[in-house]
Amino acid sequence: MIIVMKPNVPDDAVTELLERIEAKGLKPLHMPGSERVVLGALGDERVLADLGLEHHPYVESVKPILAPYKLVSRELHPHDTIVNIGGVSLGGSRFALIAGPCAVENETQLLASAKAAKAGGARILRGGAFKPRTSPYSFQGHGGDGLMLLAEVGREVGMPVVTEVVESADVELVATHADALQVGARNMQNFALLKAVGQVRKPVILKRGMAAKVEDLLLAAEYILAEGNDQVVLCERGIRTFETATRNTLDLAAVPLLKMLSHLPVVVDPSHGTGVRSLVTPMALAGAAAGADGLMVEVHYDPSVALSDGAQSLYPAQFEALGKQLAQLLPVVGRSL
Ligand code: PEP
Ligand code: MN
Repeated sequence: MIIVMKPNVPDDAVTELLERIEAKGLKPLHMPGSERVVLGALGDERVLADLGLEHHPYVESVKPILAPYKLVSRELHPHDTIVNIGGVSLGGSRFALIAGPCAVENETQLLASAKAAKAGGARILRGGAFKPRTSPYSFQGHGGDGLMLLAEVGREVGMPVVTEVVESADVELVATHADALQVGARNMQNFALLKAVGQVRKPVILKRGMAAKVEDLLLAAEYILAEGNDQVVLCERGIRTFETATRNTLDLAAVPLLKMLSHLPVVVDPSHGTGVRSLVTPMALAGAAAGADGLMVEVHYDPSVALSDGAQSLYPAQFEALGKQLAQLLPVVGRSL
C-alpha cells in the first residue's frame, strides 16, 4: 500500500503510523518527499484494512501497489534511482560506459584492455574472475587471484571495477575487493545469491536471465531490494529465442519498458546480446538511443587471443570509435558521455 500523507504532518504522527503498520506484521517504509511524506506498507495488504488508515486525520489517500514487485516499482518510488559505483553515477543525465574484457586472464592482458577501455571513454572497468561457463572444459577464470588482479589494475588505471559473483559463499570476498557485484544471466533466479548480494552494501548489476520475462527480472531485483540494498542496476543482455543467427536476441524494447515500470537504472550489454563483434557497435548505439543509462561492452586488447568471448569483444580502435559515436548521439536523448 502507498499511504500519501497530507502536507505538514508532524513527525510524531508519522512515527505512530509506522509503528502501527509494523505492529500488523507489515514492513513499513518511510519516504519523505519535498512536499509531502509518503509511507509504504509491504506484506499482506488485507490486514491494513483493520487500521482504517483512510480515515486518519493526517492521511490524504491510500492506494494499493498494483505491481507484484513493490520496492522496484515506479508506483512506490516515482523518481529515478541513482546508483553510485565507486564514484560513477548510473541513472542520471550522464551516460555510463562500463567496459573491459570478458575474463581476467593475466596482468598484461588486463592492463592493456583496461587502458583501451579508458581511452575509449569507459568510466567503469569490467572483468570476470569467477566465470560461469557453459562447458566445464572452458576457461573457468582465475577466481580469487583474478579478483585481486582486477582490483589492482582498477587502482592503477583509476577506474572502479565490477565483476561477477557466482555463489553466495563468495559474496563477502567479492564485495570487499570490487566496487560493484554482477549477478549473471545464469544466476538471475538464484534466490540465495540474490538475498546474499542484498545484504552487502555494494551496488549490484543484475543481468536478465536467458529465459526471463521483464517481470521475472524485476522480481529478481525485488529480492535484492527486500534485503535492504537499493543500489541495483538492471542489465538487458539478450534472451533466447528461435533465432540462432545471433547469440541472443537483444530485447531493446525492454529498455524503455523497464524505465517505465521501475526507478532503477538500466544498462544494455550488446556484446552478449549479439555475440557478433560487427553487431556490437550498432546495437550499443541503439541501446543508448532506446534510453539506457549506460552500456556494458566487452573490449579486449587483442580479441583474437581472448580466452573467452573473443568473437564478441571489440578491438581497442573499435571501442574508441564507439565512444566518439556515442558522444554525438547521446545529446539527442538528453544525455552526455
Ligand atoms: C559476462 O558478463 O561475461 C557474462 C557471463 O554475462 P551473462 O551473465 O550476461 O552471460
Ligand atoms: Mn563474456
